[in-house]
Amino acid sequence: MPFHESGKKKSVPEGLWAKCPKCEHIIYNKELDKNLKICSKCGHNMRVSARERIAMLLGDAFKEIASMIEPEDPLRFSDTAPYKNRLEDGQRKTGMKEAVVIGEGQLGPQRIVVGALDFGFMGGSMGSVVGEKVTMAIEYAIEHELPLLIVSSSGGARMQEGILSLFQMAKTSAALGLLEKARLPYISLVVDPTTGGVTASFAMLGDIIVAEPKALVAFAGPRVIEQTIRQTLPQGFQQSEFLLKHGMVDLVVERHQLKETLIRLFGFFMKARKNMRESGELKSR
Ligand SMILES: [Zn+2]
Repeated sequence: MPFHESGKKKSVPEGLWAKCPKCEHIIYNKELDKNLKICSKCGHNMRVSARERIAMLLGDAFKEIASMIEPEDPLRFSDTAPYKNRLEDGQRKTGMKEAVVIGEGQLGPQRIVVGALDFGFMGGSMGSVVGEKVTMAIEYAIEHELPLLIVSSSGGARMQEGILSLFQMAKTSAALGLLEKARLPYISLVVDPTTGGVTASFAMLGDIIVAEPKALVAFAGPRVIEQTIRQTLPQGFQQSEFLLKHGMVDLVVERHQLKETLIRLFGFFMKARKNMRESGELKSR
């Protein structure tokens, strides 16, 4: 038995080893990083921070923008803890000012604009600053005629900012409308979990929506629905594979294949755009 003689469970030294939340297999952290945070035993895709995600896809070829914008507490909100304290916790835990990282980088041969939400910062929720930065990323893509990738992982709109966070749904969606007018592609990558106001705005507005395997992607989560309709939901309901079968997402792609898949998709779209430009169908600005 893996117990100490005293009967106390041996603790895992922090930073060196990690435990798979699904099968509880203990994995050497360096091995886990090499395997893109996929459990070598059960194949579970562990959560990845925004910066780790960007590093996985772009390596060092990334220049962050607007990193210093900080959230405020306009409603002086407090429930179980004051919002201000929750923000400070998130900042301390992640080293980020807010739950999203945006910037420009190189994905294979293609320059892209990328935004990635970080679930570790208040559940990746969208308040005014997250919405503003996502919008800035979209506007930056239009300005520089670059394609856009947003990686979503979020509990939804941030309730501590009330209506101000709901505004962000409309704002980001409207900005994506302008991106579409500029005929620039937007790929939305949804990873576990993506829910609420983020699902109901930019996460589901991708020209192509790519999901990681077995990710929960939903507006209201399964528990809420079951309690509302008083019925048991089918197996795998709201998971990527189910959503693919029902037309809610376009592709389910293994983490190891993500980079290649995104390079191919962006290559296809940008080539089509170049052809439109050359045939005069798309005017230069
Ligand atoms: Zn596992």
